[in-house]
Amino acid sequence: MRSTFAEDILQRFLRYAAIDTMSDDTVVATKSPSTDGQWDLLNLLVSELTDMGHSDILVDEHGVVIARIPSNLDYEVPTIGFMAHVDTADDVPGNGVKPRVIEGYDGSDIPLNTEYTIKVEDNEELAQYTGETLIVTDGTTLLGSDDKAGVAAIMAVAKALSDDPTSKHGPLELIFTSDEETGAGMDTFPYDKIKCAYCYTIDGGKRFEIESECFNAATVNVHFSGVSYHLGAARGRLVNALTMAAFFINALPQAESPEATDGRYGYYCAHTINGTATEVDLTVYLRDFDIDVLNQRIEALKLLAQSAAALYPKGKVSVEDKHVYFNMAMVAQEKPIAMTNLREAGTRLKMDLQEALIRGGTDGARMANEHNIPCPNIFTGGHNLHSRFEWAALSAMEDSANLVKEIIRVGSEK
Ligand SMILES: [Zn+2]
Repeated sequence: MRSTFAEDILQRFLRYAAIDTMSDDTVVATKSPSTDGQWDLLNLLVSELTDMGHSDILVDEHGVVIARIPSNLDYEVPTIGFMAHVDTADDVPGNGVKPRVIEGYDGSDIPLNTEYTIKVEDNEELAQYTGETLIVTDGTTLLGSDDKAGVAAIMAVAKALSDDPTSKHGPLELIFTSDEETGAGMDTFPYDKIKCAYCYTIDGGKRFEIESECFNAATVNVHFSGVSYHLGAARGRLVNALTMAAFFINALPQAESPEATDGRYGYYCAHTINGTATEVDLTVYLRDFDIDVLNQRIEALKLLAQSAAALYPKGKVSVEDKHVYFNMAMVAQEKPIAMTNLREAGTRLKMDLQEALIRGGTDGARMANEHNIPCPNIFTGGHNLHSRFEWAALSAMEDSANLVKEIIRVGSEK
């Protein structure tokens, strides 16, 4: 028999997963949230929070819901935020999700339909959940544990708090965002409406994994201008912009590419190229955990551009660089409360929390760097995210929600 708390998490997850909230990055420039289905879930959350008795709920026009739960302490402690996103990815269909619950998992391969099977040999994490409750897809869509497992965890905690008014807590902000997967959700985030001193995204994966570091990211646009000439009389006159661009790309260190790096290694990645023999636009993505190294990579590309221009004297090369997001570890170190309390909560629950690196960015990274709010990421219990082979373990979802509860407890102490 599972606990009432676990049952509540499961029922919430199944309810939220069935709502079509796939976001659409082709319309984010003109529409936020990008899809109406995201409103369906946001509105459901508002009505469920209201039913629980939480009355201070802000609904932002761009698809952000912020529920404020006032402190019931007679002394002041900083406000804690918990954040999850309602949208799902579009790598495989993210709408029409029909989650299937497996009770008492027997430890073997899990057929999703006649075509697709979750194989034990590809999923070493499955073994620890033998005998437990799993949630899988019907093989036609993703599951959406990214991030509806996070939404369900936060909502179940909100319910537990309203059911037990004797449990002491400081001021809380429960934040539900849209369009995380398109990367556009935080563009219009109402920072002026939040008061939290530190925040957590519940948007990770495997059990007990927490993340407080992500990449620093820069985009470098390189423009090559050649000299066009009739090809039959081109000798000594024509300068081919494509040849210049090819020289540039070939000079990028192959050992520092995404496909040759992992862990703490950063990279150069030629990402997009457009053009003709006369004009070429090249976009290069740079990533590194160390901001100084990222800036060195930008300088290296500028030097490389000068070399290209020197080797093809009549051609021109110009470089524009832009920082896209920053490693949230910088803010986490300045304001250690978020990680200190997270580790303390893990210790009290005897969870062996593992600190991992995010080889990407998060909404939490933007919150950290744009508003100086430390915002580490907490596991949800989901696996194979953005895939039809996605699965989630209920006990890990429950651990995630229990960790949230414990962080609230730690944060309520003087
Ligand atoms: Zn996510």
